[in-house]
Amino acid sequence: MIPYGKQDINQADIDAVVEVLRSDFLTTGPAVNRFEQAVANYCGAQHAVAVANATAGLHLACLALGVGKGDIVWTSPNTFVASANCALYCGAMVDFVDICPKTYNMSVDALAEKLAYAKQNNCLPKVVIPVHFSGQSCDMQAIKMLANEYGFHIIEDASHAIGGRYLNKPIGSCEFSDITIFSFHPVKIITTGEGGLVLTNNTEIADKVNLLRTHGVTRDVDKMQGLSDGAWYYQQIDLGFNYRITDLQCALGLSQLKRLDSFVARRNDLAKKYNMLLKNLPLVLPAVKSDTNYSAFHLYVIQIDEQKTPTTRLQVFNFLRQNGIGVNVHYIPVHTQPYYRCLGFLPGQFPQAEQYYARAISIPMYSKMTDAEQITVAQVLERAFSEIPVGQNV
Ligand SMILES: *Cc1c(COP(=O)(O)O)cnc(C)c1O
Repeated sequence: MIPYGKQDINQADIDAVVEVLRSDFLTTGPAVNRFEQAVANYCGAQHAVAVANATAGLHLACLALGVGKGDIVWTSPNTFVASANCALYCGAMVDFVDICPKTYNMSVDALAEKLAYAKQNNCLPKVVIPVHFSGQSCDMQAIKMLANEYGFHIIEDASHAIGGRYLNKPIGSCEFSDITIFSFHPVKIITTGEGGLVLTNNTEIADKVNLLRTHGVTRDVDKMQGLSDGAWYYQQIDLGFNYRITDLQCALGLSQLKRLDSFVARRNDLAKKYNMLLKNLPLVLPAVKSDTNYSAFHLYVIQIDEQKTPTTRLQVFNFLRQNGIGVNVHYIPVHTQPYYRCLGFLPGQFPQAEQYYARAISIPMYSKMTDAEQITVAQVLERAFSEIPVGQNV
């Protein structure tokens, strides 16, 4: 089976992890700081805090921006559930902004319209979480202008997007946001096994995320009430969590970071090749706004073009899986999940995300993919359209 995504681990990565195993610190040691510094430098952001996973990062980001009961957070329906759940963890309410049918990212027009309506009805969001779907940045400049006008904070969910660029700056620079989050799950661009990272140019936010990552406990005497009892002393000054990442993970991340640019370059080469190999099939291929964006290409999503073929998404998906191609679908619109239905959301509320979902298939895309594997994927896809009998329902 050719998988839809896969990590790329070499001997240097393995050696880096083994070196930590032989060292004094398995967690809360020097590799964590080194990894944070390296990612901050890469992105041109002032502060980086590494955490257990991106979900933890999104949760702490919301808390650091003061999200709580009675607040409203908006995100894209075309995302993993974590982008919305983070607000619910804080006791806030979630709502969604429909996507642009070209980029599959949050639509700026839909956002502007929803904000104007929310202002009239006194239900403006405290935070908006744009998701850089598949590794392509949202139109952050436009979203930031709306943030200035309506007074909301921005958390970029860049789980797909480390190594990508927007307006010639690395995604993660936080030029147009308060906070950016990366994920290092093995299917993402670089991996730490599990892991995430919070970037910000705001010192207060960085301090808060740092504190909440470790139970809300501090050893900094300047932050304590009263005096320290001695060198062993710590105080809990907030309600935090254990959202730490280990040195083993950060050593792997540091080693992976060295190859980040080559991983993303390879993904872009594969995308260009797919664009050529698949151009004559009844598919809608991914569009990158190349004047502003360099995508990290976490995913390569094709859509079945219903105008051009009677073959359905389900038929093509099953054919690919049956023929050794490990395809997947990203994403089931979050508002249609049973848990969100219980909160009052209804199918039909975000039609662009729903239409996109009905046609989408993520085909294999990972830096280690060989040219031969890619040609196999293209050939099986071609066969799907020539061999699936017309009118047959699967
Ligand atoms: C993977 C992912 C997450 C969650 O990342 P974890 O590191 O697994 O917690 C959040 N948002 C998006 C868009 C993702 O793809």
